[in-house]
Amino acid sequence: MIRAQLRVTANKSGLSRARQPYARPSAHVFRLRASAQASTRFASSQLLSTQLSAAGRAITRPKSQVQIYDPNPIIRRYVNEKLCADSYTVGWICALKPELDAALNALDQIHGWVFGHESDHNLYVLGRIGEHCVAITCLAMGKYGNNAAAMVATRMMSTFSNIKIGLNVGIGGGLPSEKDDIRLGDVVVGKPNMQHGGIIQYDMGKLITHGFQTTGFLPLPPERLLAALNMMPSHGAVLPSPLSVQYPGEKYDRLFKSDYEHMNGSTCERCDEQNLVKRGPGRRKYGPRVFYGTVASGNAVIKDPTTRDNLVRKHAALCFEMEAAGLVNSNFPCLAIRGISDYADSHKNDIWQNYAAAAAAQFAKDFLRIVPVNI
Ligand SMILES: [Zn+2]
Repeated sequence: MIRAQLRVTANKSGLSRARQPYARPSAHVFRLRASAQASTRFASSQLLSTQLSAAGRAITRPKSQVQIYDPNPIIRRYVNEKLCADSYTVGWICALKPELDAALNALDQIHGWVFGHESDHNLYVLGRIGEHCVAITCLAMGKYGNNAAAMVATRMMSTFSNIKIGLNVGIGGGLPSEKDDIRLGDVVVGKPNMQHGGIIQYDMGKLITHGFQTTGFLPLPPERLLAALNMMPSHGAVLPSPLSVQYPGEKYDRLFKSDYEHMNGSTCERCDEQNLVKRGPGRRKYGPRVFYGTVASGNAVIKDPTTRDNLVRKHAALCFEMEAAGLVNSNFPCLAIRGISDYADSHKNDIWQNYAAAAAAQFAKDFLRIVPVNI
């Protein structure tokens, strides 16, 4: 049997200052030193240990007393807790830096951060949400797509062999339709629908005379996770928890007609509003809504409304993303939870990434709060 042997310890005085770095008037500077040492010996039920010691950066508060840099929310929620690898029953995988930031913000406590065993190069942040112990990891910077995600999931399951709840939390492209009025910042959760199990790999299949035929079938999410979804907001209902990220603004939530291409620039300022799809009020007042249905997963970024509309027509997909198929293909027992950051067309930009990532992470956090620990 192969298990991780890692141990969590920490410099106590360093931590007490780290929790309240600006508590004393003279505390203009604080230091956190963190280095991880992970043993490479693995045996069943051994301790997951991370050795944290101090060394690191000094952050100076300016004379104006205006905080110009938050040293990192993970420092403030750090607790010194030693847990074995089997204690971590939730595996949370994301792909992008904004998604990881949102995931870390969702943790109630943080136990430490550590690499996996010798051949597991994932970096894990360990912590707790409600009653659940959670291991969070992100695809290495610059890596993306289903293949990279599959490798990350496989490594995670080899280090944390007791994972019962897998969460794939991040951003995605919304695939709006007359039936499902999806807006930027809303959340889409994969669940079985029509002939699909919740996630389809739309680019897996065969080229035939008159087009492309999708083949294969991906596993359903674990039944207990689907059962717990019944405790969450209904399809189209508002996410009840407020977000810590500011709503970007309804004027930046623009859905253009499929045949209208983006003009130059990083925003849609130059795009002609005459080509906007007419829709009702957005989400400014009540916050994101939650939709359940098919998540379309592939290895390419979609900025093409024709492909988008085909995915809606053929599969009734609500969302497009690039990791979920790789995860479920690796038998990672997961739900796909995606915050909508664009409409998968040429008008795609980064304005909504942080908000959408925060919305997805908030849904995941609320979900973990209602899932019983005896899953
Ligand atoms: Zn545009």
